[in-house]
Amino acid sequence: MLESQPSIQEDETRLRQKIESLENQLEEIRLQTHVLLDIARALNASLDTGIIAANIISAIVSLISIDRASVCLYKEKSQDFEVIGVFDSGTLSPLIPSYLDFSFLNQVLAEGGTFYRIPQKPLDWDWICCLPLQNAQHKIGSINIHAIRQSEITSEQMEFLETVAGHASSALGNALLYAIVERESITDGLTHIYNHRYFQKRLREHISLCQRRKRSVTFGLLIIDVDNFKQFNDRYGHQFGDTVLVTIVRELRKNLREEDLIARYGGEEFVVLIPEATEKIMLHISEKIREVVEKTRVLNVQTNQEVSVTVSIGVTLWRPSDSPTSLIARADRALYKAKKTGRNQSVYE
Ligand code: GH3
Ligand code: MG
Ligand code: MG
Repeated sequence: MLESQPSIQEDETRLRQKIESLENQLEEIRLQTHVLLDIARALNASLDTGIIAANIISAIVSLISIDRASVCLYKEKSQDFEVIGVFDSGTLSPLIPSYLDFSFLNQVLAEGGTFYRIPQKPLDWDWICCLPLQNAQHKIGSINIHAIRQSEITSEQMEFLETVAGHASSALGNALLYAIVERESITDGLTHIYNHRYFQKRLREHISLCQRRKRSVTFGLLIIDVDNFKQFNDRYGHQFGDTVLVTIVRELRKNLREEDLIARYGGEEFVVLIPEATEKIMLHISEKIREVVEKTRVLNVQTNQEVSVTVSIGVTLWRPSDSPTSLIARADRALYKAKKTGRNQSVYE
């Protein structure tokens, strides 16, 4: 007997189903393409790593039913990770649980490939999928999916995730590079404190802040200059002179507060801006710094000798009639007096 032929109706149904499934696939591809284009745009539109992380997560959420995810940055120095973005559909202010073993990410980054295991328990933080973020030069971090609502990640979704990871690597790589360039443009290469240009900018900002305030607040300025440093260099060498400058900065940092702005003004000159100061406060801080520098011994490894330097300090307070130039000129005059009348002292004007 001949097998019964499918009826025309059955054929039509099967064909319809096929068309419907193809249309669904096409729709998914269309959606993915849109999302990918949006991601590429969104990720490259910002240089803020936090915003980039949020964009990465929202891109993933738009296509995959995830419940918990995080984005981490790799810290090369400490070989550690910093969480820069977290998504948790269950809470308003998500936190990464402390029990997660981040050393696992080190292993994923070292291997360089996507880690994936089919989720065991759907609503528990764990490493389900970790996508390493890296470029040709550096390990950058990872995207981690900790909980998903669907039973597993399909191969199409994995392809999508890996494309997102590629875009994320370049966006975060650019942002990190930008942060380095930005930091280098405002700091001094030897001492790593702010440079002259950045100090001038912050000084202008501080002056306009004080001018806008109703109540009379002022701030203080110190100009610190190492005494007879030319002689010191001639005697001990320029390189050891550099070590001394770095040591002075270390002591300045130790003895000043977070909110005080320290900058390298020139070769062996430093400036300090002290917010909300009085003459008494300024002279107290200035004398403390002068004494600390005088007492600090620096070991010259070549001669095995401990040496020290002294500083002279010009001290002043901002007055409402002051421009940046007039303020600095007054501090400079005070410094000049300190030098003329014996060095290793603070003079207020
Ligand atoms: P004074 O007490 O009058 O300030 O004398 P001084 O010798 O310190 O002043 P002067 O302005 O004549 O010389 C400053 C010296 O600081 C000259 C230079 O060799 C030294 N200097 C400037 N920048 C650096 C630096 O980055 N490293 C080192 N080692 N020395 C520096
Ligand atoms: Mg000088
Ligand atoms: Mg000097």
